Amino acid sequence: TQMDSFKALTVETLPRRLGEVTVVADRVGADTSTWKVREVGDGNLNLVFIVEGPVGAVVVKQALPYVRLVGDSWPLPLKRSFFEYHALTRQEARAGVGTVPKIYHFDHAQALIVMEYLEPHIILRKALIQGRQLPRVGRDLGLFMARTLFRGSDLSMETRQRKADVALFADNAELCDITENLVFSDPYFDAKLNRHTSPQLDPVVAQLRADRDLKVEAQRLKHAFAANAETLLHGDLHTGSIMVTEEDTRMIDPEFAFYGPMAFDVGMALANFWMSYFSQRGHEEGSSRESVRDYLLGTVVEAWSVFRTEFSHLWRTERTGILYQKSLFEDQGDVLASEQALDQVLHALFQDMLGFAGIECHRRILGLAHNADFETIEDADLRASCESKALRFGRHIVVNRRQIHSIEEVNALARLIE
Ligand code: ADP
Ligand code: MG
Ligand code: MG
Ligand code: MG
Repeated sequence: TQMDSFKALTVETLPRRLGEVTVVADRVGADTSTWKVREVGDGNLNLVFIVEGPVGAVVVKQALPYVRLVGDSWPLPLKRSFFEYHALTRQEARAGVGTVPKIYHFDHAQALIVMEYLEPHIILRKALIQGRQLPRVGRDLGLFMARTLFRGSDLSMETRQRKADVALFADNAELCDITENLVFSDPYFDAKLNRHTSPQLDPVVAQLRADRDLKVEAQRLKHAFAANAETLLHGDLHTGSIMVTEEDTRMIDPEFAFYGPMAFDVGMALANFWMSYFSQRGHEEGSSRESVRDYLLGTVVEAWSVFRTEFSHLWRTERTGILYQKSLFEDQGDVLASEQALDQVLHALFQDMLGFAGIECHRRILGLAHNADFETIEDADLRASCESKALRFGRHIVVNRRQIHSIEEVNALARLIE
C-alpha cells in the first residue's frame, strides 16, 4: 500500500531522494550538494519545501498521514495528494496556463507534488493583513471560478468523462468529511475542536447556537454540499489559497477538490474578503484602513461581476453538455429560453453563494481552523469586536439570502454592520 513505502521528507534527506528525479535535477541543478532546502509549510495539513540550486528552484509539497495542525492523533490519508495533483491539471486545462502553479512531477507512493516555485508571490491573506491592495485579484478570481466551475459541470463536459471524474473524486471522502463537520456542523454546537475568543464572544455564540432558523439553513446548505455533485470544486478557495503579486494571481492547494455545488467555491472565496473587511479595524494602529475597506468591497463586486459575465459568456458559447441543450433552445430560434434558464441558474447560485459565505464566516471564528486576519489582532477585546461583526453579518446573509438580490446590497449591509 501507499503507507508501506511512504517516508516523510526532511530538509536533510530531500536532495538525496529527489536528486534522482530527472525533471527535478534539470530544474534545480545536477549536483545535489549545491541544493538549498527550506521547509515553509504554514498550512494546516502538509509539508512544503522550497528547493533552490544553481539552475533554478522548485516547490515540493508532501502530504503527511495525519493532520499537521493536530498531530498523529488525527490520521488523514495520503491520497489527498493524488486529488490535489489531478485537480491542478484540470484547473490548468479549464482556467488556463498561469492560473495555478506549473506541475513538474507527481509521486503517488510518496504523496508528493513537485511544482513551480511562485516568487515573489505572497499569500493574499498576508497581503490583506498588511493593508495592501492587489489590483488584479478580483478579476482573476472571477475568471478562474467561472471557467473551472462551468467547464467542470454537465453544462460543458462530455457526460461519460464527467461521470468517470465524479467517481474518481468521490474517493476524496475524508477531506469532504472534514468540511462536512468542521464547516457545516461544529460551529453550531459545543463540538470538541471548537474555540472562540472568550469570554467576549460567549453571548453571541450562545445566541447563534440557539438560532433555529440558522441551524436549519446550515443543514440545508450541508445537504447541497454533500448531495449536489454539480462541478469539480477547488474545495478550499480562501485567501490563504491564493498567491499574488501586483501582476499575477495563482490559485494553490486544491487538495479538498471534489464534485459539489458551484456556489461553494464562490461563497468561500467572497466570505474571506468580507472577513478581511471586518478585520481591518483591528489592524489600523493609528493609520486609517478606510481605503483598504473600500478596496475589499470593490474587489468583491469585481470578482462577482466578472464571474457572472464570464459564466454567461460560457453559457452562450460553450454549452455543449447534457443540460439546457441548444437543440431545444437556440436551434429552435428561441434564444430567450436559454437566457431565461441562465437567469434562473445564476439567481440560485447567488443565493447559495450567500449561504456558503455566511457559514464560512462562522466556522472561521467558532470552529477549529481560524483566520490569521482575526488571529493576528492581539487585543482580545478589539479582536472580538471585529469577529462579532463578521458573525452577525454571516447570520444575516445565511438566513435572509432569498431576500437579497445584489452584491451591492450585501456590501451595503457590511458597511452598516461595520
Ligand atoms: P497546506 O495544504 O498545508 O495548506 P499549501 O499548499 O497551502 O499547504 O502551502 C503552504 C504554504 O506554502 C503556502 O501558504 C505558501 O506560503 C507556500 N507555498 C505553497 N505552494 C507554493 C508555491 N508553488 N510557491 C511558493 N510558495 C508556495
Ligand atoms: Mg493551504
Ligand atoms: Mg496555504
Ligand atoms: Mg491544503
